[in-house]
Amino acid sequence: MKKISQPDVTKADTLYDDIVARKRNKDFVKRLSKYESYIKGRYTTYKTNLMTLENINKSIIVVDDDKEAIHSSFTSSFKKNIKDGELKQVYDECKGICPFCGTSKLEEVDHYIPKEHYPEFTLYPLNLIPICNKCNKQKGDKFLDGTNVRNFINFYADDVDDIEFLKVDIDFNSSDIEKSTKIKYIADFSKIQDIYVRQIVENHYRELNLLERYGDAASEEISNLSLIVSNQEDENEAEIKNAVERTVIGGKNGQLKRAGKNDWKYLLYEKMLAINYIDALVKFYLNKVSD
Ligand SMILES: [Zn+2]
Repeated sequence: MKKISQPDVTKADTLYDDIVARKRNKDFVKRLSKYESYIKGRYTTYKTNLMTLENINKSIIVVDDDKEAIHSSFTSSFKKNIKDGELKQVYDECKGICPFCGTSKLEEVDHYIPKEHYPEFTLYPLNLIPICNKCNKQKGDKFLDGTNVRNFINFYADDVDDIEFLKVDIDFNSSDIEKSTKIKYIADFSKIQDIYVRQIVENHYRELNLLERYGDAASEEISNLSLIVSNQEDENEAEIKNAVERTVIGGKNGQLKRAGKNDWKYLLYEKMLAINYIDALVKFYLNKVSD
């Protein structure tokens, strides 16, 4: 949920010119050229309104063939070039994890403002955010809700990390930790004072079904840790516990630094340490091994 550095857009116009120059299809070139000054002007509008993208006027590009001509510029080679160019810093900061959910790997490039309704932003680097396949599917062509509030957090503009609104509860019975562990993420959006930002964050969580996805990701994480413990050859309980604890503490600090205070994994690790979950986990699996 941390903000990401904005991609460099100083050469956005050149990016557009290169695409037009390389297009072979004369009809596409004609269609693209018709909108050249409009598209470049819209880039400036986007940058100026980055904090309030909901105020951007509707696109004038509504003819399907015109849209198609612009959309077809978003090729795999364009995506590759931008990944190594304008979005390089963005990819470095994401460390392979989708910023929208924080649980899945990066697989695609999202158009924050959907290219279906705003084709002019198809190639604009500030409108491009790396994303996972699941989030991209759930996001679809959504941008604004019924009250003109954005449906998703914009990780180049919105800063929601200074407020702690997410927490996790872990419930378990130490006699059968494997079957009894229940994980529940709870979001208290009322902690976000700014009502507009609050609604964006609420929308984002609802649209991407985040609380449930965090729960699933956390269960998987705990299974992985259990596997590490049950695969230990050494049966020295204290040593195993120390080793797992070190892993969790290291992971916790890394997550906080990378993803911030409302990151599901940071909160999970912190909770596990606070309630001595690792101690119970190690005891349970070592007893199981010696049984
Ligand atoms: Zn995602």
